[in-house]
Amino acid sequence: MKKITTPLLLNLLLFFGVVQSQPSVFLRPKLVVGIVVDQMRWDYLYRYYDRYAENGGFKRLLRQGYSCENTMIPYLHTVTACGHASMYSGTVPAVHGITGNEWWDREIRNYVYCTEDTLAKTIGSITTSAGAMSPRNMLVTSICDELKLATNFRSKVIGIALKDRGGILPAGHSADAAYWYDTKTGNWITSTYYMNQLPAWVTAFNEKKWVDSFYLKGWSTLYPPDTYTQSTADNQRYENKIFGNGFPYTLSQYAGKNYNPIVATPYGNTLTTAFAKAIIDNENFGADHITDFLAISYSSPDYAGHSFGPNSVEQEDIFLRLDKELGGLLDFLEKKVGKNEYLLFLSADHGVANVPAFLTEHKIPAGNLQPQPLFDDLLVKLKERFGKDDLVLIIVNSQVLLNTPLIDSFKMNQKEIKEWIIQYLLKQPGIGNAVDIATLMQAPLNSTVKESIVNCYYPKRSGDIQLLNSPQWIEGFEKAGTTHGVWNPYDAHIPLLWYGWNITPGKGSREVFITDIAPTLAAMLRIQMPSGCTGKVITEIVK
Ligand code: ZN
Ligand code: ZN
Repeated sequence: MKKITTPLLLNLLLFFGVVQSQPSVFLRPKLVVGIVVDQMRWDYLYRYYDRYAENGGFKRLLRQGYSCENTMIPYLHTVTACGHASMYSGTVPAVHGITGNEWWDREIRNYVYCTEDTLAKTIGSITTSAGAMSPRNMLVTSICDELKLATNFRSKVIGIALKDRGGILPAGHSADAAYWYDTKTGNWITSTYYMNQLPAWVTAFNEKKWVDSFYLKGWSTLYPPDTYTQSTADNQRYENKIFGNGFPYTLSQYAGKNYNPIVATPYGNTLTTAFAKAIIDNENFGADHITDFLAISYSSPDYAGHSFGPNSVEQEDIFLRLDKELGGLLDFLEKKVGKNEYLLFLSADHGVANVPAFLTEHKIPAGNLQPQPLFDDLLVKLKERFGKDDLVLIIVNSQVLLNTPLIDSFKMNQKEIKEWIIQYLLKQPGIGNAVDIATLMQAPLNSTVKESIVNCYYPKRSGDIQLLNSPQWIEGFEKAGTTHGVWNPYDAHIPLLWYGWNITPGKGSREVFITDIAPTLAAMLRIQMPSGCTGKVITEIVK
């Protein structure tokens, strides 16, 4: 008798339906958690290292996760909307089209806010403008869209942040929801783009009036004030006195009255963490093997950073508290979803410059450009030289936009006007260089800087002349505070930590980019890269 071989036997059994064919399963994590810490510079990982808690977030991510120590942002304009869109789409503003938090749209000849959508209406508040938002201005898919497509839309995707753009852009076009914070009511809200009514659990969450209870607590430092030796003494002249003259801050005066100030306190992060946990609980995130994606962005470090600066006691306190909350979030995820059953990454949308007045106090050159007086003076000088008003439309996102229709209607020489403007700009303090974007490739400019301009150039939403600040010079904030937006490492060097499912602990110092995060996720999850992806897989992460 002929012996039946094992594969033949298996085929026969399969044919007669005796055994079920194995579903071709390759494993994916139950949940992906993406965390953006808005305005977190890479050096904050180490600047406060000794102060972070053993069971907090940062030490655990650094010790048990993989840290890409040289993660850079390869474009100008290093701001929130560009950062979130680039991280989740794996490409640069030149491709995804989000060239700033707002831009001048050459077709409609007006300002456009990155996530504004006149077709969308607010859900969850009486405030009309706060909810007229959607991801429609983003031209490409996000990694969350690709996860949806890969699982035939069975994955659940939600993005959250106090800032609308911090939740909306990461979650992508096909998300189940994005939620953001309404400063008029203290509620989490959304828009008709996603739904026509808040889920009952979100309404119940809002009804707890979390913000009022935070206000009643006030804001004192977590540890004794004299232990904040990493920071300049509190209450400097170059800090914004938004809550008064230094610690401790009373906030009870805002309870029931003003829901805006919370955003620049550590409680903005607390509210975000509480809401993230509520999503995992109420939407059953990570409950089965169809991967869900929760995109969290912590906006408060950015609000506080603009007001107090990166060397302030306030910012140190915010990071020490955030560290503890992240530790709590990891504990929660490990209990709820299971250790190594979820994949987490943490990064930032941009860094920040030191406060110029602080730097000059220490003999480091720095200063403030004043865009409005510069623009006004430019118009006056242009009129003197060329005899016409309004030859320039606007200076936005560090770019000068010529009034091309007007220049053409007068049959003026645009090239001559551009060259004149560049010579004018080069004479201004704090402007290191100014280049004609049309002839950028011929400009004698450092290749990193040149590439960062090209990477942020999307013709319909960009200007004609690029301004390059002198190092340490910032735009605005003349009286106090600071900002970000340039190519320099203080704005462009960000943390990138991977943790959990299929992550081997380690550290790498190879230069990688914010745009490499999405293709790396795609490779790990075995899904398609986002539609405009130009980033590369970080091969050290992918096994
Ligand atoms: Zn930001
Ligand atoms: Zn900012």
